[in-house]
This record gives sequence, C-alpha cells and structure tokens, in this order.
Amino acid sequence: MDTQEKGSHRDTVRSTPQTTLLLHAEQLLTLRSTAGASGPRRGADMRELGIIEDGAVLIADGKIAAVGTTDEVAKHELAKHAHEIDCSHNVVLPGFVDSHTHPAFTTPRLIDFEKRIAGASYEEIAEAGGGISASLRGVREASTEALATHVLKALDEMAAQGTTMVEAKSGYGLSFAAEMRSLDAIRDAAQQWPGKVVPTLLGAHVVPPEYRDRSEEYVRIVCEEMIPAVANSNGSPPGSEKQIPRGLKPARDDNSSFPTRLAEFVDVFIERGAFTMEQSRRILRAAVQLGLGVRVHVCQLTPAELAPLLEFHPASFDHMDYVSDEDIAVLSKLDTVATLLPAANYFLGLKDFPPARKLLDAGVPVALATDYNPGTSPTPSMPFVLSAACTHTKMSPAEAIVAATYNGACALRLQHQKGSLEPGKDADIAIFEAEDYRELAYWFATNRCRQTFLNGITRL
Ligand SMILES: [Zn+2]
Repeated sequence: MDTQEKGSHRDTVRSTPQTTLLLHAEQLLTLRSTAGASGPRRGADMRELGIIEDGAVLIADGKIAAVGTTDEVAKHELAKHAHEIDCSHNVVLPGFVDSHTHPAFTTPRLIDFEKRIAGASYEEIAEAGGGISASLRGVREASTEALATHVLKALDEMAAQGTTMVEAKSGYGLSFAAEMRSLDAIRDAAQQWPGKVVPTLLGAHVVPPEYRDRSEEYVRIVCEEMIPAVANSNGSPPGSEKQIPRGLKPARDDNSSFPTRLAEFVDVFIERGAFTMEQSRRILRAAVQLGLGVRVHVCQLTPAELAPLLEFHPASFDHMDYVSDEDIAVLSKLDTVATLLPAANYFLGLKDFPPARKLLDAGVPVALATDYNPGTSPTPSMPFVLSAACTHTKMSPAEAIVAATYNGACALRLQHQKGSLEPGKDADIAIFEAEDYRELAYWFATNRCRQTFLNGITRL
C-alpha cells in the first residue's frame, strides 16, 4: 500500500489505488440476487449467500468491476495492472449495513447503567430523570463541531468492524435548534467518512421535559417546524465537494455517497412514555406528504398494532420484540423490513429477545442493526450483533449475514447500490480473518475484520 496519512486520528486510513484486485478469498460471499429479485430477501432466500470459493473482486473507481473465481476475474482487462490483495484464509463479503444507529450524543450514560444493574427498569430510570432526557443537556450544550467529532469517531469504529453504510438518527436534542444541529453534525461527519451515511430525523424520540404536560405542542413542532425544515434542506451546499482526508482521493467525482437533504427519513418512537399511535400517525403523515421516507421504533417494550402505520409504507419497523402473530402474517406479504436490535436486549439484561425465528419462518424480511446509542446499546459492532442474533434469537449464521448486509440496504432502500457484491454496485466490502462464513457470528468480543472498503476507499 502507498501513501499513509500521518499525524492525525485518521492515520489508519490509507489511500487506495484506482484499481484493486482482491483475490484468493477462501469464501467470497456475493449475496448476488437470484432471478433478478430486487426486494428484501425472505424465507429460503435469507440462507443464500452466493458463495464462491477462491473468489475475487475487482474494484475500479469506487465500483465493483467484476466478481467471480480468481481465475475468471484475473482475465479481466482492468485486472492486469491492479493492485493485488491476497485474501487467502479470509472471508470477503459486502460491508455491513448498520441500518439503525443513534450516534449524535456526547457522553455515556453511566448512571443509567449502574442503576439498571441495581434493578431499576428502563421506565423507572426515565422517571428518575435518566434515560433519553439525560442525554439532552449534553447535546443541547454541544457545538456542531463537538457533536460531529463524536459521530465521526463512531463511524470510524463501525468501519473498523466491517460496516460500510450507516443510518444515523438525531433524537437527543429534542428542540428545533438542537435537532437541526444534530443533523448538521451527522452531515459534517458523513462528509469526512468515505462510507455512506443515511440521516434520519428522530425529533419524536421522547417528549422533552419542558413539554411533558403539553405533548401536543411538541408534536406540532415536529410536524410543522422540524419536518418541513429537513424536507426543504439541502445537506451539501451547491458545488461543495466531499471533504476527503488529506492524501486521499475521492473514488468518484459525483456526490452520490453523501446526503442531499439533512434527513432522508423520519422516525418516531411509538411507546408508552414516548408517542401515542395517533401522534405518531400525524408525524408520519407530515413526513410522507413532504416526500420523506419513514421508519418506526415499535413494539420494543409493549405490544402495538401495526395496521394503522401501513398506509405510510415504512421502510422498516424496528425492535419488534412484542409484534403479534397477526401482524407477522401481514408483514410476510410486504416489503417493510423488520429490523431486529438484539444488542439492546443484551445490554438491558433482558431475558427475552426479538422473535426472529417466528418472523423468519413466516417469511418476513429481517434486518439486523446495532441500535448504537448511549442508553441501551453502546456498541458499534455488527459482528457482535451477529453473535447475539445467532445465540439468542436462533437465526442461522447465513440468515444473520443476509440480515446485516443486503436486507439492511433494503431497510434504507439502497439495495440497488449496496448490500451485495455484483458488478456495477458500490465497492463496499469487508475482509475478515476467517475461512468459513460461520466464523463471523462465532467469534465474539474480538475484532477479526482485517480491512474494509468504503466506496472503494480502504480502511485498515
Ligand atoms: Zn433506536
């Protein structure tokens, strides 16, 4: 490898030659589509990894130019002068898509952590002034720059463990100004990170303390102020270029890998103590009317009916611990992805985990994500999520990998660019020190990710 940046926190990032050939992968997990299917995978398709032994991937200009066996790909015209990376004894797969994270916060929530260990419940901690509200002060007082520094650190930690695309929510500001500043910070961090970031407005995370007795007024601010502001925003000033760290060259000239609006999605937390179904519907309607996508935190702590939400065509329903059998049957016929977040169950010390087997066996498309956040899931690690999903929700390693890559891309509606290794797609690739894909979910509390490519830019 050539030019290495020195003297900054980014000195593990190296520049990438225009053309790179990954070859001799023990197993190359292509996740290529079968029969041209373009929606999220479900049922038996969630066990198909499209494995090629002695596999190779050719990367050119940030895109995948060819995929196949090493013998096949080595014959490609562009392969002749490519920089070669030997991937023997490695598993190569699409980079993980972490489709549910909350990185715009400033400090860990150690009081919550200790209180919970001593026996307090999530709701009791919130009532005692902990929980989401406890993160408010830090975010409201933080500068955009300080928040962006935290977000970028999280993105870098994620990439170090194989993640190449991240959905990033606001939701710890809970005022117009602090929510917009959080989204500004996410945008600023995204412009310094070579992977793709999909921003989400989660102004409706909880009702902030100053609106406790007048939640309707807060819902009005979300609907009439926050949502129109992000819908009408332009995330990158016209003509601006992605700020690639010094010494790195952008993989492409276009700006397609960073957001054009401050948020692409609006999310809402439907839960006792958060927002009612009626309030949530108002918020989702406001988002859809202005052309934003929607996703929903639902059925995390208590059951909720999903039928009143379907008219908004959510990209995903997230958590789903308490989803009903009737709703599982409905979801099996839709493209809305059920995004499971078992790291939160682990960190909360819960006995029960999301009903992954029921969802999978019924044919519901399932994704996995970290839920990275300071209160209930402070982990950037998708491999840990694979481990938790397999050991505690009984997903198979193959299902967990599909859920953490291709179906995660579907949950962000970017499966045409991301989530599988196929010619023409973005070069988002993770290389793991493993000879069998099952090892990705087997080893835990260790990092076997050797290298990540994000839009063709490598990170060691
Ligand atoms: Zn969440």
